[in-house]
Amino acid sequence: METVIHRIVCPNCGTTIAESIRHNGLRAGSTIGPSVVSCPDCGTCCCTGNSEWDEKSLFQQLWFLFNRTLWWLIGSLFVAGFAAIVTGWIVVEWRLIHPPRLNEFRVIAFVVGAALIGMLLARNTLSEIRASRQRVHDSSPP
Ligand SMILES: [Zn+2]
Repeated sequence: METVIHRIVCPNCGTTIAESIRHNGLRAGSTIGPSVVSCPDCGTCCCTGNSEWDEKSLFQQLWFLFNRTLWWLIGSLFVAGFAAIVTGWIVVEWRLIHPPRLNEFRVIAFVVGAALIGMLLARNTLSEIRASRQRVHDSSPP
C-alpha cells in the first residue's frame, strides 16, 4: 500500500491550507468542501481541489459514493473481521457456545459488524452531503 500526503499551499505565502491523504491514489478524506478558500495568513484565494456536493457532476457524485462503498468494504474486512475473531475467542473461552459452532458465530458476528460500520458510514456520508448543501444554500443570495 502506498500512502501519499498531498498538501495544498498558498501560492502567495506558502502557508499549508489543507492536507489530504491518499492510499494508492484513493483519497482517504472527503472531497466535499468549498472549492476555494482564503489563506488564513494573507487572505489569498486558493483552490482546494474539493467541491460542494451540488457542484459535483453526477459522475463525481457516483464516484464519491463508490469510494465510500470501497472504504466500507475495506473497513469491514479489517475491523469486523478482527471483532469476529476476538468475540469468537471470548464466547468459546467463556463456554457460551460449543467450539463446533464457532465458524457459524464468526460469520454472524462479521455480518453484524459490517452492517454496523455500514450504518455509521452511511449516516456520516449523508450528514456530510447535507452540511455541504446547507453551506451552498447559506452562501447563495436569497
Ligand atoms: Zn497566504
